[in-house]
Amino acid sequence: TIYLDHQATTPMDPAVAAAMLTAATECFANPSSPHAAGIRAFREVERARGTVARFLGAGRSEIYFTSGATEGNNLAVKGVVGGGPDARPRHVITTAVEHKSVLDTCRSLRAAGHEVTVLPVDAAGRVDPAAVAAALRPETALVSVMLANNEIATVQPVAAIAELTRAAGVPLHCDATQGVGTLAVDVRALGVDLLTFSGHKIYGPKGVGVLYVSNALSDRAPLAPLLHGGGQERGLRAGTLNTAAVIGLATAVELLAAGREREAARLAGLRARFLGELAGLVPYTLNSGTGEGFLPQAVNLSFAGADAQQLLLEVTEVAVSSGSACNSSAQEPSHVLTAIGLAPERIRGSIRVGFGRFSTEAEAVRAARALAAGVRASAGMAAAQPA
Ligand code: PLP
Repeated sequence: TIYLDHQATTPMDPAVAAAMLTAATECFANPSSPHAAGIRAFREVERARGTVARFLGAGRSEIYFTSGATEGNNLAVKGVVGGGPDARPRHVITTAVEHKSVLDTCRSLRAAGHEVTVLPVDAAGRVDPAAVAAALRPETALVSVMLANNEIATVQPVAAIAELTRAAGVPLHCDATQGVGTLAVDVRALGVDLLTFSGHKIYGPKGVGVLYVSNALSDRAPLAPLLHGGGQERGLRAGTLNTAAVIGLATAVELLAAGREREAARLAGLRARFLGELAGLVPYTLNSGTGEGFLPQAVNLSFAGADAQQLLLEVTEVAVSSGSACNSSAQEPSHVLTAIGLAPERIRGSIRVGFGRFSTEAEAVRAARALAAGVRASAGMAAAQPA
């Protein structure tokens, strides 16, 4: 299979797997245990925390390990809104194109009596910073805006939004899950107070992620934990740390940091090669941009009249996605493609193609040919077979 679904998840880098095997077999003691073996595990976890902190331009005490971006997003949003000393209803601002782990968390807050403003986006999937500013209220407890979209690759103007939220004294959370692989992510440059990402989108393990919370925010208004128990992660996230996964995530982060810009350019080249090949074979419409303001490795496009889900079942040689694979209820049309104003017909014919570390030019070309053949076959466009 030609795997081009790197927004859903990435294959684990062999260097990560090797680091995890060593960690799991040699560093298995509970990092909270006070004996020598525990202290060794603790030191390894703290080294991993330091690696992640340097990668984000954060302090080590600002990094919390979670089970992934879903937990990180839940903890950021509920932790801030529920963290106040009083129980009065608060207000949260987010966007229509966030991942469900943000949107559904906000919906749960709404059900609990809080108010939520879901801002619209333009045709490119971008939220207007001025719309964020206009939505701010005295009781606004949090703004949550993603760094880059998992379906249409749009990069949001997070730094511009941060200037406005900072001036208003409102914390800003950023789900950076899709951005950390290829974009420069520095929490100070972005100006965010909270930031989340997941290990498995960056060639690391599944089931582990990072939540950054600025010390300034923690000092002012400590987050309310979702999990209570042994007080791990400075009381914010109880439960014995998954040492091997944490070390695997830090190894994945080190590998990213090594050649980010070169790799981003290579991935953009693969995407261009794929689209160029496809253009010569079958008509398509782009649903995402391929220039400035979009992730370099991904593209969303529609084949007119096609049923993408059916197409993906038929083109077994290529693994891409229709709509968002992060969403198990894939039967309903993508909320992201709906938010950018696409007609249901165009959403039905949409696929997302995402290149990754182990993708090659030959794969880009083969994938384009296989998908084009599938589209032509299902549209009855295939050249008549000789009798
Ligand atoms: N946020 C974004 C933007 C994502 O693409 C995903 C993908 O699944 C998540 C959050 C959730 O990450 P996880 O499944 O690792 O919890």
